[in-house]
Order: sequence, then structure tokens, then C-alpha cells
Amino acid sequence: MTDYLERPLTDLKGVGRARLAALQKAGLGTIGDLLRRLPYRFEDRTSFRSIASLSAGEWVTVRGVVTGARNDYIRRGLTLTRVTLADDGGSIQVRLWNQPYLAKTFVPGARFLVYGLVSADRGFHLSRPEWEPADDESDPIHLGRVVPVHRAGGGLTPRVMRRLVFEALEGLPTGVPEPLPSAVRERLGLPGLAWALRRGHFPGEAGEAEEARRRLAFDELFVIQAGLVEVRAGRMARQDGVRHGSAGPRLRAFLEALPYRLTAAQERAMGEIFADMEAPRQMSRLLQGDVGSGKTVVAAAALVKAAEGGLQAALLAPTEVLAEQHWRRLRGLLAPAGPPPAFLAGGTPRQERERVLAGLADGRTPVVVGTHALLEEDVRFAHLGLVIIDEQHRFGVAQRARLQAKGARPDMLVMTATPIPRTLALTLYGDLDLTLIDEMPPGRRPVVTRVVPQGQRQRAYDWVRGRIAGGQRAFIVCPLIEESEERQAKAAAKLYEDLRADWPDVPVGLLHGRLSAAARDEAMEAFRVGRVRALVATTVIEVGIDVPEATVMLVEGADGFGLAQLHQLRGRVGRGAEQSYCLLIGDPKTKDGQARLEAIVTARDGFALAEEDLRLRGPGEFFGTRQHGLPDLHAADLVRDRELLDLARREAEAILADDPALARPEHAPLKVEIARAFGGRLGVLVG
Ligand code: ADP
Ligand code: MG
Repeated sequence: MTDYLERPLTDLKGVGRARLAALQKAGLGTIGDLLRRLPYRFEDRTSFRSIASLSAGEWVTVRGVVTGARNDYIRRGLTLTRVTLADDGGSIQVRLWNQPYLAKTFVPGARFLVYGLVSADRGFHLSRPEWEPADDESDPIHLGRVVPVHRAGGGLTPRVMRRLVFEALEGLPTGVPEPLPSAVRERLGLPGLAWALRRGHFPGEAGEAEEARRRLAFDELFVIQAGLVEVRAGRMARQDGVRHGSAGPRLRAFLEALPYRLTAAQERAMGEIFADMEAPRQMSRLLQGDVGSGKTVVAAAALVKAAEGGLQAALLAPTEVLAEQHWRRLRGLLAPAGPPPAFLAGGTPRQERERVLAGLADGRTPVVVGTHALLEEDVRFAHLGLVIIDEQHRFGVAQRARLQAKGARPDMLVMTATPIPRTLALTLYGDLDLTLIDEMPPGRRPVVTRVVPQGQRQRAYDWVRGRIAGGQRAFIVCPLIEESEERQAKAAAKLYEDLRADWPDVPVGLLHGRLSAAARDEAMEAFRVGRVRALVATTVIEVGIDVPEATVMLVEGADGFGLAQLHQLRGRVGRGAEQSYCLLIGDPKTKDGQARLEAIVTARDGFALAEEDLRLRGPGEFFGTRQHGLPDLHAADLVRDRELLDLARREAEAILADDPALARPEHAPLKVEIARAFGGRLGVLVG
């Protein structure tokens, strides 16, 4: 017999084809799936009220005898069924819409429990009723208890969900297999799985639902952490990675040519990365640092080091614009240390592409910068030794696995554009080692940030124009239009035309992702050298654009952006000696929206801001509409459950320290759960 939780939902009464389709649409395939989706709230329907005591506006549960029922056809398509329900002290009408057949159910003399809203609109009655026959044989499901309210897609009502869950729980054996090793469960004093599944939906006493949720949340977090720690343990156990040589003259030349001294944090980061590179183990490291903390130069040093030892290195960026930007900066940075890096993106002309591919295949080209185009089948390296991924929260662990399959275990460094909150980092990058740059280069002046209401928009633009007249350069960023680069590009083009008309004396440029590579190139170059003074752009400039002379960042529709994005945009200025300004135009309509803009004005630190953003918007929204690679969490909450996550991590580490391959029989259920959580996509990494 298969595990009860693995059984299909069609095993439940009342799940036919249509309902099954709806459940599947909500992502539910098995009884276990259904039971692991806890309700988002509960309604207390425990105590019955006497009908005579009711007053309008209350949600109440009553118990009574039907004394009459009749259907009224109000108009076409609208039927009203009025049922009169009486108890010892009084009676009340229950109103049901468009279910005329119910008049046959509510036969006089039958006893019913009804939950509903007491209304005084056109006569005293109960509206939006939930009801259940009050017979003596079976327990009521929907009434007379604290009932769960589930969120369900596919048009299923909470009532249907509740009944399905109730039935699924009736069949649940007490001895359902535990994914958690019993040692862990006992150590942490967590309740059993069967208990948690029952009480998570139908709590008996106060507090039980939360205790149950914690248990199920721990399961989710623990399984993910165990998977990530397993990947890491597997990597640490192997010695077949690439070994880079120790520092040589090229690296020294690179460092000496830098126009500044590295900060202590940069030195430390470089040290950690170099140690990994020289070790025979494969490096898998996450480099985090605030916007402007100088991650690029650290990455550049790693590229030089790889090339110096005769190995090839690739830097991958999420967009073509960003890849170009990196390439340009690296060309300058790497110049004292050897041949210039090559560039490869989707838009690279065929001849050029072939030339680059040849150089990579025969090993003549030591460093290449590019987009996902680098991952294509026909891109071959003679001896790839280092991959740096500059990502904007784009890959999860599973996607990285695909990338790794490309080379013979090259060292890997992942950089994020803005800091990400610790709980998200641990969930997305928990298999990686962490290097933190926790210090800014000296002499940075905080960017003065102001929120500008729409009503003062014109004043803001006048002020910006004044700055430009005084010799400064300004970015002007268009509102974010989710899901549509094309519409955003259009909006940018429109704003650009408006500005050109309004500011005839100011050279204005335009940059968006829909322009050809050459046009983007031209726009960036013009702004960099100062031929263009105001650059109207979409979020393509969000990352990596480095023009120290730009001192004004004006963001239109700022309330539509995430905090991390705004922080990243603000990080585009404040890079030179001049005082820089960030103007956020927007009238946030919600309290949260207001709180977000206030947070960006006051908070200087990207790490704190990221935590705040996560708290305000939740994990899904934190990444905006981008692919984020976060595993599905149903019971756990990465905002609320920080401590639980730490606990899960610690327990996962303890178990894997003891049994690195999870080979012991008592760990078999855990292995199954890990495979399920990651959809079997960890294979390459565990390998
Ligand atoms: P990040 O990628 O971390 O946001 P960058 O690498 O773009 O930051 O660096 C931001 C700016 O700071 C660049 O203009 C870079 O040249 C400069 N920079 C980096 N390190 C230092 C340093 N140690 N001292 C002074 N300036 C630095
Ligand atoms: Mg190595």
C-alpha cells in the first residue's frame, strides 16, 4: 500500500473530474498536498446563540428547527430562498440566493445549524449562510467548532476545501511516516506529523493551530536546508575541482594600477575567494555587499588570477545591457593585466560570435563576459576554471545546477546586485559559502533622498534642470511597468520626447532594453563622456551602470518599485566627490507604499532595507515579478520564521555532519522529501 499522503485526491469522496482539475490548478495533486496547505485563518463557530439575542452586524452560529421555506423568483436569473428557522426563544429568516433546490432540503421539522451574518436589510435575517443538518450521528464539519478557512485556487469555496480536508483527515492513519528523524523531533519537542496535520486544520484548543503550523513549517524549512547542506557537504568531500595558481606578476600589475586602495573588507573578500580558488575543491561562493561597496573590482581580481594561471574565466550577467556594462568596465580594469576580455551576447553578430567561440575553444581568449548566450550548446571552453555569475536574484539552486553541468567543475562565484535578506539568502543560496563586503569605500557622501508628490513634479524637474545647467548629469527613470518591457520602452520614449521639447537647451539621451545594442552603446557612451546630460532610461540602468559624474537620480512612479530596486537605482549616483540627490516621484496610495518610501529615505544600509522590504512585501513580491527560484513554502513564512529557519539549518548541519550522504535507513524518508522539494533537480550539484 502506498503512503496515505501520496494517495491521489480522487480517493476522496466528491472529487470528480471537475473538482480534480480545480485542485490541480491550485497545485494540489495528493492528499498530502491538500493537508500540507494550512488555512490562512480560522472562524470561531463554537458557541451557539439564541435567536432572540441576535443583533445586526454580528457573525453568529444558531441551531434551530425549520418552520418554513419558500422560493421567490425575483427576476430572471435571480431566485431567493427564504428559510425560517426557530429555536426556543425566537425565529429568524435565512436567505439563500440562486439555489432553489435547497427548499427541498430545508423541510419543516428538520434541525439545522446555521452560521451567517445578522442583517437588518429589508427585514431581519441571516445572510451569507453556511449551514449543516444537525443530526445526531455525525459531527458537524462546518459549525459548532473553530473552522479553518482555506485559500484555494480554481474556484473552490472554503466550504468545499474544508469538507475535503475533513474527509482526508478522517482517513489519516495515526502512524503516518515521519520525514523528520525522530531524534530531531524529540530534541526540539515537536509534535508528531499526524497530530500537526489534524490540529493545523481543526485545532481543539487555543494555541494548537500555531503549534501544528510550526511543526509543518519546520518540516518545510528543514527539508530545504538538508538538501542545501547535502549539496555543500558533497562539494566539500570532493577534491576534483580546479586548482588555480598563487598570485603572480599580472595580478600585482592589476592591483597596482587601481586608482584607490582596497578597503579592508575588499581585501578580506579577495583573500577568501583566492583561498578557495587555490584549493582543489570547487569554489561555490556568494559575494554579498551593499550597492557601491566595490564588488566588481573583487570579481575582476578573481578573473585576473584565473587567467594568470592559464585558465579561462567567464562572467555572466542577466541582461545584455548589464553584460555590456561589465565588459566595458572590465576592459579598463584588466588592461594592465593582459589581453582584453571578449564579449558574447544574443545580439553579437555572427562573424564576431564565431571569432569569440574559436578563441574560447582553443584557449586563446582568457576572459569572456556575456549573457546566457554563454550557456549555449556550441560555446566550448578549452579549460574553463572560473565562472562568475552576476545575478539579480535570478537563479535558484536548481538553475545553478544546470549551469554547472557546463564545465568540468569550474570554481563559481555568485554576486547579487543588492543585498538580500538573510532568510532568503539561506533558502536560495544555502549551499554556497558566504563572503560579505561590509564596508564602503571611504569618502562616500550619503545620497540626499526626497519623496516628491506628483503635485511638485514640475518643481522637481525645474530643479534638476538647474543642476544640469550647473554642470551635473542626471538619470531620469521611467515608471516600472510590470510584465511589459515594450510598454516601458514606449513610456521612456514618450518621456524623452517631452523632455526634449521642454528642455531645448539640454542634451537628452534615451536608453531602454528595446534599443539595438549599438544604440544602447551609443546612449551610454554619450552620457559617460558628458555629451548627453540627462539620460531618460528604463530599469535597464538599474544595475552596474557606473558614471561617477552623475549626481542626480530622478525616479518617476517610485511607489511602483521595490525597495531593493530603488536602493539599487539610488546607488547609481553618489559615486563621485560631489553631493548627489535622489528624487522619488510618487504618491503612494497605501500605508505600505508610504512606509516603503519612508524607509528608503531614512535607511542608508542596503541590508537593513532589504529586511524591511521583505517584511513589507513578503518573499514572493520581494523579487518583483522576476523568476526567483524560491521553493514553495506553505506553512513556513520567511518573515516570521527566522528562528525556526536557524534551528532547521542547525539540525540539518548536525545530521549531515554525521551522515553526509543520508545513507542511514532512518534518513531515507528525509531523502525522499528532499528529492520531492527540489523536484530531483539537485542531482548535478550533489553528483
Ligand atoms: P558594486 O558593484 O558593489 O555596487 P562597484 O564595484 O560598482 O560596486 O563600485 C562602485 C564604485 O566604487 C566604482 O566606481 C568603483 O570604481 C569604486 N570603488 C571600488 N572600490 C573602491 C575603493 N576601495 N576605494 C574607492 N573607490 C572604490
Ligand atoms: Mg578551486
